[in-house]
Amino acid sequence: MEKGFALPACKKCGAGVLIPLSDYGRDGAPIEYKAWACTNPECGFNIRIDNGEISYGRTITSSNK
Ligand SMILES: [Zn+2]
Repeated sequence: MEKGFALPACKKCGAGVLIPLSDYGRDGAPIEYKAWACTNPECGFNIRIDNGEISYGRTITSSNK
């Protein structure tokens, strides 16, 4: 039991889970959980939080057509 908490399941594809991504601000302050991304590469669902606003990324840019 190493995992202390369960990651939320992706509501879009239902196959992957959302993992938190952290970033750093201009002053070097850590911004935890700035973005969440689905672990399913075929889904690519992701959420970003910028300046208190949530934006939903539809698909991560892919070169495959
Ligand atoms: Zn997904």
